[in-house]
Amino acid sequence: MGFECKICGVDDKASINFLGKKICKECISKITNTETDTVLDYEYYKANIKEMWLDYITN
Ligand SMILES: [Zn+2]
Repeated sequence: MGFECKICGVDDKASINFLGKKICKECISKITNTETDTVLDYEYYKANIKEMWLDYITN
C-alpha cells in the first residue's frame, strides 16, 4: 500500500485515513479551511469528498 493522496496524488507518508482513503495533510487543510478564497478549489474538493463518501457507504 502506498501513501498516494486520493485527491492530488502526492505520495505523502504523513497522509491520513479519511473515509477509508489516503488524503495528504495539504488536501485535508484545503478541505477543512473554509477561509480560503479559492471557491473553485473548495468546490473541487467538496466534489471529491462526496464521491469518496458515497464510495465509503456503499462498500
Ligand atoms: Zn493531497
